Amino acid sequence: MSTLPKIAWIGLGIMGSPMSENLIKADYDVTGFTLEQDKLDRLTAAGGKAAGSIAEAVRDADVVITMVPASPQVEAVSYGPDGILENARPGTLLIDMSSITPQTSVDLAKAAADKGIRVLDAPVSGGEAGAVEAVLSIMVGGEQADFDAAKPILEALGRTIVLCGPHGSGQTVKAANQLIVAVNIQACAEAVVFLEKSGVDLKAALDVLGGGLAGSTVLMRKKDNFLHRDFKPGFRIDLHHKDMGIVTDAARNVGAALPVGAVVAQLVASLRAQGDGGLDHSALLRAVERLSGAQV
Ligand code: NAD
Repeated sequence: MSTLPKIAWIGLGIMGSPMSENLIKADYDVTGFTLEQDKLDRLTAAGGKAAGSIAEAVRDADVVITMVPASPQVEAVSYGPDGILENARPGTLLIDMSSITPQTSVDLAKAAADKGIRVLDAPVSGGEAGAVEAVLSIMVGGEQADFDAAKPILEALGRTIVLCGPHGSGQTVKAANQLIVAVNIQACAEAVVFLEKSGVDLKAALDVLGGGLAGSTVLMRKKDNFLHRDFKPGFRIDLHHKDMGIVTDAARNVGAALPVGAVVAQLVASLRAQGDGGLDHSALLRAVERLSGAQV
């Protein structure tokens, strides 16, 4: 039996499944709850325990980790008689790794403090591959002592783990991350269409671009998606649409202008309105192709 803190994991999707499995590999005792039975079966097969409810998952936990789509789901799993705050023990550390609005994180930390529950916002970057390989960047908001307590757990999930400031700061940094990623994908997608229409060997072009100043983690991770038009998620356009909403709203609140980000947010919204919300965000290529006359 492991002597490490007992973990409850809520939300076993594209990210939560491989992340929770990395904790199991690191010898943590993990009890999970999520909405899909096949994901619970996957957790059990990996050596974790499946719970029938949030209350059951968190009751004996020292640390609760949430990895759900957006603010409404974080609120749904946290509040109310069946939620984490009502059912976890005082002293529990709640680490929310979902990407949500900074204000939701601040409000959650306040509500949890009333129950003696400590909270960190700890959204991640690195995508599904980063989750599988345990090399995520993890941007944390909250108290130093709670960050120090969480660090060994986060080290089993990622490589770059930084306390960015008080509650909500991790989410603010994640919003900036999503701005940079979206603009970068859009630039790559425009380059792909330009290169193909110019008759250049696309693979050769992307290989050499990757070695110069135009190279980026986005280009490296998404090159094959572009080359093979493989838009299986990965990171869904629906979720990036949510994140572009978070960053444009947060920027407006502090008086920061994001002219290029605002255009890319519109392109993401348009792609989603055309029925591509379930595709990987590299599908921004489809938006550029359509703008350039292709019937895709
Ligand atoms: P996903 O849709 O694949 O998984 C979400 C999981 O949350 C599902 O398994 C669902 O059952 C669960 N869930 C939703 N509501 C629930 C509830 N009420 N009770 C219990 N479980 C519930 O999403 P994902 O791609 O894993 O993303 C999760 C979060 O991580 C999002 O905030 C996303 O923006 C962020 N993120 C995703 C990626 C990526 O590449 N996919 C990368 C970085 C960050």
